[in-house]
Amino acid sequence: MYILLMGPPGAGKGTQAASLVEKFAIPHISTGDMFRAAVKEGTELGKQAKACMDAGQLVPDNVTIGIVGERLAKVDCKKGFILDGFPRTVDQADALDKILVSLEIKLTRVLNIDVPAEELIARAVGRRICKKCGATYHVTFKPTAKAGICDACGGETYQRADDSEATMKNRLSVYVSQTKPLIDYYQNAGLYTEIDGRQAINKVFDDVVASLRG
Ligand SMILES: [Zn+2]
Repeated sequence: MYILLMGPPGAGKGTQAASLVEKFAIPHISTGDMFRAAVKEGTELGKQAKACMDAGQLVPDNVTIGIVGERLAKVDCKKGFILDGFPRTVDQADALDKILVSLEIKLTRVLNIDVPAEELIARAVGRRICKKCGATYHVTFKPTAKAGICDACGGETYQRADDSEATMKNRLSVYVSQTKPLIDYYQNAGLYTEIDGRQAINKVFDDVVASLRG
C-alpha cells in the first residue's frame, strides 16, 4: 500500500493515518517528522535543512526532495507507506514520480479526506480546551455540562487563538489554492479519490480501505 494522504487542516487526516498504520503495518511519513529525523541523523541533506530552518528560511525544494527520496528508500517503506504533507506543488509531485520510478514503486492511491470549509470553520470555532488537563470539547457537538468548566477536572476551558474564524478562513484558503493543482495532477494520473470526511470516523476509514481495494 503506497498511499499519499491529503486533507485540509482539521479534517481528521491524522486519525485516519493512525488507523492505516495499524491496519497495514506501514509507516506514516509526515514531512515534519522526516525533517526532524534527517536533522537528528545529521545526514548531509539534514544539515542543509537545519541551516535553512535556523536562518528562518524556507528549505529549498532540492533539499526537501532529497530528504523524501532518502526516507522512502529505507527498508521499512518496502511494503508501503503513508506519505503526508508532501508533495505540496506540482513540481514536487513530478520529483516524487521520479523518486518512485527509481525505487520501482507505484502509488496505490492518492486520498483526500475532504470536509467543506464551512464545516471545518464550525468545528474549529466551537472547539474548547481545558487549561488544566487538555481535554477537548465543542460548544455544539460535545459541550461541557457546565459552560466553560471541564467535565473531567473542573478546570477552565478556553478557545485557542488558532481556532478563530479569521485564522481558519485564511489557513483554508491557502490550503485550497495550494492543493487544487495537485488534485488535478493526480486526477489526470487516475490515482485520486476523494473521501467524505464529514462522516463518522469509522465510516471514513471504511471508505478509505474500500478505495484502496478498489
Ligand atoms: Zn480538565
